[in-house]
Amino acid sequence: MTTIALGMPAARRDPRDAPPTDGRPAVPELVDRFGRVARDLRVSVTSACSLRCTYCMPEQGLPVPPREQMLQPGEIGRLVGIAVSELGIREVRFTGGEPLMRHDLAEIFAASRAAAPGIDISMTTNGIGLDRRLPALLAAGLNRVNVSLDTVDREHFRLLTRRDRLDAVIAGIRAARDAGLTPLKLNAVMMRETLADAPALLRWALDNGAQLRFIEQMPLDADHTWARDHMVPASELLAVLGQAFELTEVGRDDPSTPAEEWLVDGGPATVGIIASVTRTFCGACDRTRITAEGTVRSCLFGDDETDLRGLLRGGAGDAEVADRWRAAMWNKQAGHGISLPGFAAPERTMGAIGG
Ligand code: SF4
Repeated sequence: MTTIALGMPAARRDPRDAPPTDGRPAVPELVDRFGRVARDLRVSVTSACSLRCTYCMPEQGLPVPPREQMLQPGEIGRLVGIAVSELGIREVRFTGGEPLMRHDLAEIFAASRAAAPGIDISMTTNGIGLDRRLPALLAAGLNRVNVSLDTVDREHFRLLTRRDRLDAVIAGIRAARDAGLTPLKLNAVMMRETLADAPALLRWALDNGAQLRFIEQMPLDADHTWARDHMVPASELLAVLGQAFELTEVGRDDPSTPAEEWLVDGGPATVGIIASVTRTFCGACDRTRITAEGTVRSCLFGDDETDLRGLLRGGAGDAEVADRWRAAMWNKQAGHGISLPGFAAPERTMGAIGG
């Protein structure tokens, strides 16, 4: 069996070439060399965003590929259908950039729903414009949303996102809640600049019927300013929250679920912490990603990508597309390797991969 050093990217190759499949068992699922099976599909639909969060985007935004280089709704629907019917995918989440930047998002959901009628469709969003778009998205098949919100302090929000749009985000969250999209989850990246705001954010989430999860910042920012000794580890956040709430650890039911849960003031409300850096869960990772341009990205931190768009547009059948996807995932690296000597951040930043 070929081994891949923990966290080290595989050698770069042309994304149009088929990856090696030596030693791969003849099973339909997306297995990798480390025994993991991908069940959770993340589909990025754009690298454009209406915010400029410092941990993700450069101030001027990321380049957005020309429309013809991006997957179109029918192509996305076809890939979702292949993922579910041929490859054992059980969850589909749309990401970006910001998915709401795509004006054809409802068409994307409708095509995915038609290709995989039984699957839940969820979306990670910054919530801006969600209140206006929600009726059409619900009609197209959207089931759940995770909204990114790092602070409810207006000035801190403006500084972190480089945009004064807190009210628009809150309107989006409340629209999702009022539409009955449950569980309604909020994602907050733990930043030193907003650490003191964490208790108020948790209180706000509880008051608004949302489940809050804090996420350790990873080195995926476009400005490459991430530093291990500057990031906020889960232990420090817990200490801050512990001054305002009584927290009781309940852990996680499923090892592939990244969030560890704590009961808040005896429950039933909980808060989640995704300790991506200090308590890595790569060994149980069950994710596979499709970029907006139609490449398989087996790991957030692996620059090795495999093109499916060319196969789709070249007339390949579903079986050929599925085989290429399987080969891509067979070569998934062991983990992010952030703590290893020689770690290098991936070329694509979070906004260009999808979270
Ligand atoms: S870095 Fe993320 S995508 Fe890569 S193996 Fe770890 S959990 Fe999975």
